[in-house]
Amino acid sequence: MAFHWQSHVNVQHVGVDDMVLLSKLSDQAIVDNLKKRLQANSIFTYIGPVLISVNPFKQMPYFTEKEMDQYQGAAQYENPPHIYATADNMYRNMMIDNENQCVIISGESGAGKTVAAKFIMNYISRISGGGQRVQHVKDVILESNPLLEAFGNSATARNWNSSRFGKYVEIIFSRGGEPIGGKLSNFLLEKSRVVHQKQGDRNFHIFYQLLAGADKNLRSTLGIGELSYYNYLNQSGVYQAQNTDDAKEFKATLHAMSVIGISEEQQFDLFRLVSAVLHIGNITFVEDKNFAAVQSNEFLEFPAFLLGLSADAIREKLTTRRMEGKWGKQTEQIDMTLNVEQAVYTRDAWVKAIYSRMFDFLVKSVNGAMEIPARDSALSIGILDIYGFEIFDHNGFEQFCINFINEKLQQIFIELTLKAEQEEYVKEGVQWTPVEYFDNKIVCELIESKRPPGIMSLLDDTCAQNHGQSEGVDRQFLTTLSKAHAGHPHLQQGAECFLIRHYAGDVTYHIEGFCDTNRDVLYPDLIQLMQQSTNPFVRSLFPDQVNAGGAKRPTTFSTKIRSQANDLVDSLMKCTPHYVRCIKPNETKRAGDWDERRVLHQVQYLGLKENIRVRRAGFAYRRSFEKFLWRYAILTEQTWPSYRGPPQQGCEIICQSVNMDRGQYQMGKTKIFIKNPESLFLLEEVRERKY
Ligand code: ADP
Ligand code: MG
Repeated sequence: MAFHWQSHVNVQHVGVDDMVLLSKLSDQAIVDNLKKRLQANSIFTYIGPVLISVNPFKQMPYFTEKEMDQYQGAAQYENPPHIYATADNMYRNMMIDNENQCVIISGESGAGKTVAAKFIMNYISRISGGGQRVQHVKDVILESNPLLEAFGNSATARNWNSSRFGKYVEIIFSRGGEPIGGKLSNFLLEKSRVVHQKQGDRNFHIFYQLLAGADKNLRSTLGIGELSYYNYLNQSGVYQAQNTDDAKEFKATLHAMSVIGISEEQQFDLFRLVSAVLHIGNITFVEDKNFAAVQSNEFLEFPAFLLGLSADAIREKLTTRRMEGKWGKQTEQIDMTLNVEQAVYTRDAWVKAIYSRMFDFLVKSVNGAMEIPARDSALSIGILDIYGFEIFDHNGFEQFCINFINEKLQQIFIELTLKAEQEEYVKEGVQWTPVEYFDNKIVCELIESKRPPGIMSLLDDTCAQNHGQSEGVDRQFLTTLSKAHAGHPHLQQGAECFLIRHYAGDVTYHIEGFCDTNRDVLYPDLIQLMQQSTNPFVRSLFPDQVNAGGAKRPTTFSTKIRSQANDLVDSLMKCTPHYVRCIKPNETKRAGDWDERRVLHQVQYLGLKENIRVRRAGFAYRRSFEKFLWRYAILTEQTWPSYRGPPQQGCEIICQSVNMDRGQYQMGKTKIFIKNPESLFLLEEVRERKY
């Protein structure tokens, strides 16, 4: 995305750097502090180790190489809060403690997650060493961004470059700290966007890039026309996204492809498919004696050419479907003629499948280019950038899945920060006052539990019981759901909808299409069709074995999401977690605008106040006795230049030497715990003077 450098951004450090230090703790006090800081051009603020980032919607001057150097190896309190400090911390923790690290970046659409993820990747790429091979891994990791953004991002009313998929990037390091490989996992590509966009949204960037950037040769081979010619582009009222030069981005996409090792031939194959998708959208249907007929056969010719298929085969597969009928004990195949609605549905299902398989191909290419080294000898840093909680006027199955993942992430946040914190105090035998917090486990269970069946299991059952049927199934699901969970404190039923009380707010989901989307099966007809292609690349995207029959229940979408979410949770739980919580200050996307009500809402559902309360009830700083001694022995002659007593006692001597309040610190079994960061600052100051 293009930015304009503002040459005279005056940066001041106002308010408190770490909100653990707020003199009065309330949601409003947090909002005020963030506002004050943003106005002074400080977008970052800590809550202990958690970084809060407020989207400034303008380029800040503190992301240069100078800052990268400044933050490298520095302690948190030495510099103002910064994403580079978080990144540096991860890298150093990994090296010193020999532990895998991860960062969970959360926030709503347009809050700055993807930008933050890229800052982290850039920083790590810069500070980690390595020769040519390592440089290649770094290049692939960095270039995977423009590539996947081209195919997976879109301009929406909320964000001109909105990620419509989630991703978890793991960078794998040698013991020496050099990136030697990586692994990228993607979640939930919003494939419905290919065939339909909300008013004010665009389709995925790649379509506009190709149309704006293709040279004459490519244009004529692929039959590229004007944006307004394509049904999949001309319905939502937007062609141009602000600050986006599609032709220029197209060049960046091509460059990324070549770095990742996607050959020119494959690139051509991909663009053929991109163009084919658009042309398929122009195939429309009319009603002919209650059945669908292709409106104008000429619109079949181009997709057929691009996909290496015959126009007749396409027509047939779009207007009929082979069904399996059960007559008594016998299974028989019957060809059913589709009506217009079914034909449109089939066409769109086909396109969505082509697009999502193309996307998976790109992810696979990225992974292939990075290599995934054997894990046991390696360390890793994982970066999770996944779309945040969504509450729209109309929420469907996709929002349901997205919000479920967010609910799971919140669960890890609670488990790892709040609970882990409390557990450590217990383990170390340190006294403190427990803090109450809302555990959203009950909501996760409501959605994903197998026994008793939660929402997803009930949905799967309903889908399976009504195999091949669509009509009335959604409503049947709703009835089952309300019976099974009547009176659940986090669920309410309406007509044609149900409401979940999520940790982030109440969301009403409309059930229409739940079962169909959940089934997520591609008709065998369409798979067979694609397998007839004369183009090997097209065939390679559809390797599925189509064998009719078989008692196996097909994998549903919610089953996939559940297992993806749980795999993700498992990987994250194996790491030392870090958090970046992004806040969007307005809906106008303009620098300087501040929507108080919206910020307050985010502060509330991100649970920042609880987060601060836990930090305060607890201890801002902890270190093993040895490490503490190592750093602060210089403070008093009793421990400097030499000290032979027990480490714990040494720590005590040091704290007394600066007259630290006795209530400010406690000795655990292996570590010293210090309550307020100020006490630590005190130690640091004295240390500074001694040097
Ligand atoms: P998200 O991934 O959370 O949906 P993005 O990271 O794509 O949001 O950010 C949306 C837009 O906000 C970016 O395209 C950019 O214009 C602006 N933005 C986000 N973070 C920053 C930042 N740190 N500095 C300047 N602009 C930013
Ligand atoms: Mg994003």
